[in-house]
Amino acid sequence: MPAAKPAVIKPSNASKLAGSLAKLGLRTDMDLVLHLPMRYIDETTVMPIRQAACLGGHMVQVEGVVTACEVQYQPRRQLIVTIADDSGQLVLRFLNFYGSQTTQLAVSTRIRARAELRQGFFGPEMVHPEYKVVNENTPLPTVLTPVYPAGEGLSQATLRREIRAAMPRINWQDTLPPSLREQFGLMGFSEAVHFLHNPPADVDEHSLEDRSHPAWHRMKFDELLAQQLSLQRAQASRRSKNAPCLDSVGTLSAAFLQTLPFSLTGAQQRVLTEIRTDIAAPYPMQRLLQGDVGCGKTIVAALAAAQAIDSAYQAVLMAPTEILADQHFRKIAAWLEPCGVSVAWLTGSLRKKQKIAARGQIESGNAQLVIGTHALLQDDVQFAKLGLVIVDEQHRFGVDQRLTLRNKGSTGLIPHQLMMSATPIPRTLAMTYYADLEISVIDELPPGRSPVMTRVIDQERRNEVIERVGAAATAGRQIYWVCPLIEESEALQLQTATDTHLMLQEALPELTIGLIHGRIKTAEKQAIMADFIAGTTQLLVATTVIEVGVDVPNASLMVIEHAERFGLSQLHQLRGRVGRGTAASVCLLLYQGPLGSTAKQRLMTMRSTTDGFEIARKDLEIRGPGEFLGARQAGQAMLRFADLNNDQWLAEQARDLAQSLLRTAPDIVTAHLLRWMNNKEEYLRV
Ligand code: ADP
Ligand code: MG
Repeated sequence: MPAAKPAVIKPSNASKLAGSLAKLGLRTDMDLVLHLPMRYIDETTVMPIRQAACLGGHMVQVEGVVTACEVQYQPRRQLIVTIADDSGQLVLRFLNFYGSQTTQLAVSTRIRARAELRQGFFGPEMVHPEYKVVNENTPLPTVLTPVYPAGEGLSQATLRREIRAAMPRINWQDTLPPSLREQFGLMGFSEAVHFLHNPPADVDEHSLEDRSHPAWHRMKFDELLAQQLSLQRAQASRRSKNAPCLDSVGTLSAAFLQTLPFSLTGAQQRVLTEIRTDIAAPYPMQRLLQGDVGCGKTIVAALAAAQAIDSAYQAVLMAPTEILADQHFRKIAAWLEPCGVSVAWLTGSLRKKQKIAARGQIESGNAQLVIGTHALLQDDVQFAKLGLVIVDEQHRFGVDQRLTLRNKGSTGLIPHQLMMSATPIPRTLAMTYYADLEISVIDELPPGRSPVMTRVIDQERRNEVIERVGAAATAGRQIYWVCPLIEESEALQLQTATDTHLMLQEALPELTIGLIHGRIKTAEKQAIMADFIAGTTQLLVATTVIEVGVDVPNASLMVIEHAERFGLSQLHQLRGRVGRGTAASVCLLLYQGPLGSTAKQRLMTMRSTTDGFEIARKDLEIRGPGEFLGARQAGQAMLRFADLNNDQWLAEQARDLAQSLLRTAPDIVTAHLLRWMNNKEEYLRV
């Protein structure tokens, strides 16, 4: 039965369309309606051909009747169509075309064509114009034609149709009452949305482009308000949960502070006080401890752990790599074990028996402090009385991993959480993305450090650099040599590291040169690092495994090959491995020219500053917030309309309004979140 056929095809077409729309995040009518144009085309006027030809080089729309249509084969196959109006004639040239176009564009057809008009060999012409067939009475549109962000398998025509269809189906009620709209100078929601989909032809196009138009202003405000509302709500819900009060700064803390070979910097002291106050409270702390590489976060974390232990709870410290966990373990155990604390160690590379023993200690509560890697996240790890969770280099872990660790306390209470990161989050980002996060900043380096001097050097001068490395080693300095990043292949990366190691051994036979990379077994890695820390190894050839956290204060020279392949924050982290002692340190960034403009900007930034916040700000500028935040937000354009660089003042207004709405107007909160968040809220959890 012929009628059955479309009935079968139609749903699959519909689901294909739904699939393409979903890829753009367009699932509901409201999603469609809030899918706003990225630009517009002006099809509201046609220009006489003669006038357009005089203008030259501009995007114009003309209308005319086809006077000739033929396929030419010289110099290549192309479709040449001539149209004419009262003022003159014009050639339309199609280098790719369908056979059907020769009939569609048959002589006497009237069309409207839109493209840049140029002077061709035979007079004015348009190459590959957009065009449509019209008749003498086809009206011109009175509004600008929207161009939407589109995706694979979605044409502008389809998007326009779907969006137009969704418009009458949504609830247009304004979520903000007139009094608030007036207070913040906001256009009505419905008016703003309708305007942005179909702005009148006489609009100031510039204000649409830079999104300064009042209609855009409303969209940005609504978006920021929704974000602030949901973040603040998350914060309130956290405060309603119960955590152990780690309020005893007792004998351990005192003994520990006494044995320290240095005194805390003012900044360390300040953040320690912030943390101490937080963890003494009966609801869970969620605090990010930020501080540039080398500022001394570890000791602060250890002191917080001491307070947990003093309060008869366990603490756990998780690090993203074995090298780093191992380093923490050595350092912290050396600090705390003499004070009578039992420290356990759990990583993936432990033997089965050792793992079982470690888990037993953790479960019985015998281990007061536990240090480890991802292995801590496994199901069979359970804590007796977990009070404090510390995550080092927090951006290396996913939200769910941090949550898993937090849920390992078996007391029914939620442990406090301290996250540490040397990747500073610029203020704007912190405010909009991390509202449910207290932030402590160590903005001071321990005394006696001198900033690392950075040089950018052409890879061609590698031999000179090798000589310099030799001289430095002879003078008693220790050196890192970082091998180029080869993202496509780990095998190639290892090969390069091995080759570099060999090359350097041949070039500098008098030196003791170590090699470390991700594939070396843990025990061996520990031995290699121990040799470097002891100073037996003078030069350490490394892949990016040394990127995070590694602390060897005597190392004062770093060479990074193919620095143009690294990202800014990665370079900053790597460079942070030197300049940790009192010796003046140098970082040499070797690059292979010619440099692209982004790579050039990155290297310039590295040369001009060692300030992590400045670097992060630059990074944000070069890459944009989506990428900056990394995996967590990948694919979720959290702020689609507002722009953190320009709209901070709006974000501040939204934050304040959110605060007062949550207190006084729950109905508005619910309606606004329903419209704007529509179950995307979970992404905002830290
Ligand atoms: P990061 O913040 O990058 O994790 P670390 O905690 O590894 O930094 O500290 C960097 C180095 O500075 C370590 O060798 C540490 O022992 C040392 N350090 C930390 N605080 C002080 C201080 N107040 N005075 C002197 N040295 C310090
Ligand atoms: Mg660290």
